[in-house]
Amino acid sequence: MCFAVTHILVPIILVDLVRDHVFKKHRRMLPNKYILLAGIAGILPDIDIIIRGVIGTYSYITHSLVLPIIFFILSFISYKKIEHRKYYKIFLMFSVGFFTHVILDVLVHTPLESSMMLFYPIGKSITGFGIMSIDKYGFIPMAALDGVLLLLWLIHEEVTHKISDFL
Ligand SMILES: [Zn+2]
Repeated sequence: MCFAVTHILVPIILVDLVRDHVFKKHRRMLPNKYILLAGIAGILPDIDIIIRGVIGTYSYITHSLVLPIIFFILSFISYKKIEHRKYYKIFLMFSVGFFTHVILDVLVHTPLESSMMLFYPIGKSITGFGIMSIDKYGFIPMAALDGVLLLLWLIHEEVTHKISDFL
């Protein structure tokens, strides 16, 4: 699995980049609290570690694409119903966070070390691409990935928002 920091950083950076460059005229529609929520949602799928400790069996559902799809559908439904519209951004951030978590984990794990079933409970085949396997390279590339991600994002924030003015 990826480091917790990677799972938090990737959705934060992704949502921030989309907000800054795709919806830049409507930037205020997505305040920073939602970006933080995407980061928190990015680490939540690893709650299965606690579940496994409590009930003793692995919970595949948190590392399946089913939950991000459900959150996305809930976001869409909330957006369509005026009385529930205030919730659509929350569900959308959960969808992004869970989705990036699952994708990161499936990229890192090899099928042998993985216990990820991408389409659980519909499909139960174990998936993993192992592009940054712990067995092959140790933890160094993943720690470096965190550092590179954070550095690139800070450079982006400096160029786009001059964050050094606030330091
Ligand atoms: Zn995970």
